[in-house]
Amino acid sequence: MKNYTSSNEPTSATCPACGLLCDDLILNATGAESVKNGCAKSITFFEQSFQTDISASASLFGKPCDLNTAISAAADILRKSKQPLFAGLGTEVQGMRSLMRLAEKSNATLDHMHSESTVRNTLTMQNSGWLTTTLAEIKNRADVILAIGTDIVTSHPRFFEKLVWNTDSLFNKPTPEIIYLSVPAENTQAGIAPNGTSPTVIPADTASIPEIVNALNALLHHKKIKADTVAGVAISTLQAVADKLKSAQYAVVVWSAASLKFTHAELTVQSIVQLINTLNENSRAAGFPLNSGDGDTSINNTSTWLSGYPTRSRLVNGKPEYDTYHFSTKKQLDLCDALLWVSTFNPHSPPDIKTPTIVIGHPNTQLEHQPDVFIPVGIPGVDHAGLMFRVDSSITLPLKKLRDNHLPSLSDVISKIEASL
Ligand code: SF4
Repeated sequence: MKNYTSSNEPTSATCPACGLLCDDLILNATGAESVKNGCAKSITFFEQSFQTDISASASLFGKPCDLNTAISAAADILRKSKQPLFAGLGTEVQGMRSLMRLAEKSNATLDHMHSESTVRNTLTMQNSGWLTTTLAEIKNRADVILAIGTDIVTSHPRFFEKLVWNTDSLFNKPTPEIIYLSVPAENTQAGIAPNGTSPTVIPADTASIPEIVNALNALLHHKKIKADTVAGVAISTLQAVADKLKSAQYAVVVWSAASLKFTHAELTVQSIVQLINTLNENSRAAGFPLNSGDGDTSINNTSTWLSGYPTRSRLVNGKPEYDTYHFSTKKQLDLCDALLWVSTFNPHSPPDIKTPTIVIGHPNTQLEHQPDVFIPVGIPGVDHAGLMFRVDSSITLPLKKLRDNHLPSLSDVISKIEASL
């Protein structure tokens, strides 16, 4: 792992490997394993990124070609297409801006690879609104944290280190109490406080989360539940959770829509939001939905500010349309006549379809079936600068260019395709 654009001296970096976007990393010249302040996930990301094949060349049906030939072939496919699908969309703000311009010119449908999860949150937000919080508020105010269906650290490894066990909060608040609902006990180690206090762990199947959250809502509304248990959890245990949430100065309820893998999970997100609303009648509480990664927060915010809608949208003669059901990648793969697959942070493979396919992404993308066009591009935050939204959507952070090579950025390539149309 060398370069850092010229000197091989240790350098600061922002990590794009999860939505926390930690900007306190120091990459040492000796190797990615010596990333200061980095978690295991960040070390894996930077190690994999610095081991990419920077000599990877563009190709047509697997045969190497120069970049201009590949760009012109991609433009040909989109020019002939009446219903293109832009999917994957693993990129940052600048990449998404260029994709939106190309989508407008080609009447494309846009869907991010993690939309299946994001939509569960979006439907709730659109239906009833919600009250969510920021990393700073969690760090400075949270005194009770209820994690529903997620251990948090698998997807966002430094959450507890930076926001929960920190001793530098602005206000004099107690060390937060942690409650895990429907998280395997072996995954709750991160919730043990520095003073040794164990978290409250309430075991339950993921499929039982809707029932349990509804029971918590009922208890918060002082309803009598005529049963001793709900989904195997004692009512007395749930009453204790409800009491802790009610007496908290600032309760935070964390969930990951990606882990709510059951039908109509958006209704469960809605129940969680109701629970937060009820708590706010007499105290202070907020939600914290975790994101899924691959730039999902960045691309949905960019899409929303440019078109008014997050992804699962389509631009028809410049007018945006939005449909979370019909514009899903799954549905559109049966209907589209061209696919543009984008994944720049990770080498995610495109769906295997017979439709003409353009893949623009990570140089190490494994292609089981050679697409019509493959264009390797740089990794944001490693090969070129960029901009990303943090998981709480409250700020954007700049990503740095850490090494020199010939790989173009996604936005360079997309702008050239747009110019060729
Ligand atoms: S917690 Fe997330 S952003 Fe922070 S270093 Fe780890 S992977 Fe990177």
